[in-house]
Amino acid sequence: MAIVGCGATGSALASLLARAGVGTLRLIDRDYVEASNLQRQTLFDESDAAESLPKAIAAARRISAFNSQIVVEPHAADLTPATIDSLLRDATLILDGTDNFETRYLLNDFAVKNSLPWIYTAAVGSYAVSLNVLPGTTACLACLFPESPRGNLETCETAGILNSAVNLAASISATEAIKLLVGATAQMRRTLLSFDVWRNEHAEVAAGKPRPQCRTCGLHEFPHLAGAGRPHITLCGRNSVQIHERLRPVDLGQMSERLKAHGTVRHNDFVLKFWREPYEMTLFPDGRAIIKGTTDTAVARSLYARYVGN
Ligand SMILES: [Zn+2]
Repeated sequence: MAIVGCGATGSALASLLARAGVGTLRLIDRDYVEASNLQRQTLFDESDAAESLPKAIAAARRISAFNSQIVVEPHAADLTPATIDSLLRDATLILDGTDNFETRYLLNDFAVKNSLPWIYTAAVGSYAVSLNVLPGTTACLACLFPESPRGNLETCETAGILNSAVNLAASISATEAIKLLVGATAQMRRTLLSFDVWRNEHAEVAAGKPRPQCRTCGLHEFPHLAGAGRPHITLCGRNSVQIHERLRPVDLGQMSERLKAHGTVRHNDFVLKFWREPYEMTLFPDGRAIIKGTTDTAVARSLYARYVGN
């Protein structure tokens, strides 16, 4: 089983399923732990934030501390059209722990194309949302939302996240995952379920049948798999931009030596942190960087070019 995204919902899903004794868990996440995450990301603690550990690595460490029998495969990586085949190869179930529709449409394309079940999970504000996608049987994400929801959509930036909504969404989806694992697919919910824990409002939208004219599961068009993916993205609520020009491995030790002359630098096996006022750059061994202190992709890109290279 693979969990894509190890933030709030992803780490709650991983925690529940690991404690339930799921044999193998593949954890994929592109981000690192920060103190501001700890309010809702239940697998991490202050020492993970102090070390800026990649979330996938920190989650794997925590899981092995409470269930050493489980095989956990952490991947500190960005799921993109270029990496999805290798990151999700031989997954039997994909759980969405992401915070964005771009990655969810990519997952939906991949899952429908390969007839793999996946479970959409979201939490924003006081809302918890869950949807089972069983390709060929139920509706897919694109049946329900042909276009990415737009307009005055709340995000974690504008609405914050109530941690109890996160745990509710993860509990519902983890239960559906366990049903699938034990072969109880007939018991799996066939609706898009949303629950507002603050207002005590609950809604369900029928999702039991594919929409015949659906571009994804009806016509088998997979534009998100073919897309290049956005190389530079802003990270929700973080005043940060991710730079991912292309796959270019970086030796963190050598880079650390090089950057010493330009600011404060620190590294471990998993990340390098470089501070140069007013920016903070976190560099991963695969060449990705998260630049904090700006949401302007041009500024982030030029900092990356100056200090890491073109
Ligand atoms: Zn569909």
